[in-house]
Order: sequence, then C-alpha cells, then structure tokens
Amino acid sequence: TRPPVTVLGLGAMGRALAETFLVQGHPLTVWNRTPGKADDLAAKGARVAPTPAEALEASPVTVVCLLDYGTVHEVLDPVAGALAGRTLVNLTNGTPRQAREAAGWAAGHGADYLDGGIMAVPPMIGGPGAFVLYSGSRPAFTAHEGTLGGLGDAHFLGEDPGRASLYDLALLTAMYGMFGGFFHAAALVDSAGEPVSEFAPMVVRWLTAMLGGLPEMARAHDERDLSDAASNLEMQATAYVNLLDVSRDQGVSTELAEPLGALLRRGVAAGFGAGPVSSLITLLKENS
Ligand code: NDP
Repeated sequence: TRPPVTVLGLGAMGRALAETFLVQGHPLTVWNRTPGKADDLAAKGARVAPTPAEALEASPVTVVCLLDYGTVHEVLDPVAGALAGRTLVNLTNGTPRQAREAAGWAAGHGADYLDGGIMAVPPMIGGPGAFVLYSGSRPAFTAHEGTLGGLGDAHFLGEDPGRASLYDLALLTAMYGMFGGFFHAAALVDSAGEPVSEFAPMVVRWLTAMLGGLPEMARAHDERDLSDAASNLEMQATAYVNLLDVSRDQGVSTELAEPLGALLRRGVAAGFGAGPVSSLITLLKENS
C-alpha cells in the first residue's frame, strides 16, 4: 500500500497532483478554500477535510499548491501547530527568498520542509514529460521520493531551500523568452495576412535547431571563451535592425523586440562585436 498524502489547494495544478496521487493508489486527503472543487475527487475516493488543520493531520506529508506564498501563509499560519513532526512540500511558485523564509518558518514549527518547482502543465503531471525540482530537507526528500516521483521525475537540487525556486524561475524566464519571440514572429506573419498556423511548424523546426546550440553557448560563457565567431555579435546586431524595421513597416509593436536590440548594441559598444553572442550573458549579469 502507498503512503497517505494530503494536497492543499485544488486549482488546475493542485487537482492534477491530487488526481495523480489517487490514480497511483495513495490514500488522499484534500482541502480547498472553495469546497466544490473537491467533489469529483471525493467521488473517486479522496477524503475532503473541512479545515486545513484536519487536512494536515491526516497524512505524514502534505503537498501545498496554492496561488502564491501570500496565500500559503494565509492558509497555514493559523494552523501551524499541526505541522510538528510532519513534512510540508510546497510546490507553489515563488522566489528563492520566499522559499528560504518558508523553510525557516516551517522548521520553527517542527516540520520538515521541501520547496519545489513544477516543470509541467497540469495535463503532463504523472506522465513522462513532467519533472519537478526540489530543494530543502534531504531526509524529507529521501523519505518521500517514491511518492513525489509519481508526479514527474523528481530532481533534488540540494539543501538550500531557495535553489528549486531559482531554477524554476530561470527556466520560466527561458520559456517566456521563447514565447515572446514566437508572439512577435506570429504578429509579423499575421500582419502580412498569412495564417500563423501554417508558419508554426517552421518555427518549431528553427527553434529546435537553435536549441541544440545552447549547451555550447553555456560552455563558452562558463569558460569565458570568446573565440567562436561563426555568428559574431556585431553581425547579429546589424541584422537585428532589419527585424525591427519590418515590424515598423507592417505596424507591429516592437515592445518585445527592442530590448534585445539595445542589448546587442551595448555588446558592440563594449567591444564584444567580434565574438559569440553569448557574451550578452556577461553583460546582463554584470549589469553595467
Ligand atoms: P489556480 O488559479 O487554478 O488555483 C489557485 C489555487 O489557490 C486554488 O486552489 C485557489 O482556491 C487557491 N487560492 C487562491 N487564493 C486563495 C486564498 N486567499 N485562500 C485560499 N486559497 C486560495 O492556479 P494553479 O493551480 O494553476 O497554480 C497553483 C500553483 O502552481 C501556482 O503557484 C502556479 O504558479 C503553480 N504552477 C502552475 C502551473 C500551471 O500550468 N497551472 C505550472 C507550474 C506551476 P479557490 O479554488 O478557492 O479559488
């Protein structure tokens, strides 16, 4: 038999987590501010706790998936007395600072604490593409790895409770950069009167090819290797002006594209023109 689990928060993600625990045979207790959201889970065998305190008391481990850390504190602060001797796994999106504060708060109430970042959308939970980042209490991760691994590949990033959040937010930053690029590209094609859905497969092909270059950019950055000039920064800064010009010509907003153009110009001015475009990482980090 699988160990009992509690899930606090039954939004789109919390419901996917809860559903997966049920399917995998864990005795499940759930709580949500709006009670109706637990009805389908109850029909499948979940116990619906009337209060957060009773939900915590039902299981040795509680997975929290609420809107933000303000909500986590709003729900858990009044019932912190029920945390002693239990494990709290907080999968709510937040910053490293919020994660470290929550870890200190949980330790102060005698709980083992894991912070986490879910790298999946709800339909992916429990499937092969999902992964979840964890950091904080190593004993808690070891004890509950079997349970947590059912949600998606479980990666433990060490005992700094903020590390999972850092990686989560960095991965989301990369994702939004990609989304932003696609949105601008789609607006360009649409503004020429062409359907975006016919263009999309080409975007996937191109981005997939470019993704293959990221590890080499990372290596060049880590080793401060400025030698690769196959696609030098100044050439890219020059070509970039054309994509801004076509946007203006077709009445497409340049609000997403302008900042990278400015950064490329800063790279040229800083003397990085002949080297790889990945020297922009250094410019961003040093922020000067
Ligand atoms: P939803 O907006 O679907 O759900 C929000 C949840 O928070 C609900 O359970 C809601 O309860 C609860 N909530 C909000 N305010 C309060 C409050 N004041 N008191 C008590 N409960 C409250 O969000 P998701 O489920 O999609 O996201 C949950 C977390 O998971 C977020 O931190 C999100 O960033 C993260 N996440 C989401 C992903 C996604 O694709 N959905 C992907 C990866 C991470 P009620 O039902 O009563 O409104």
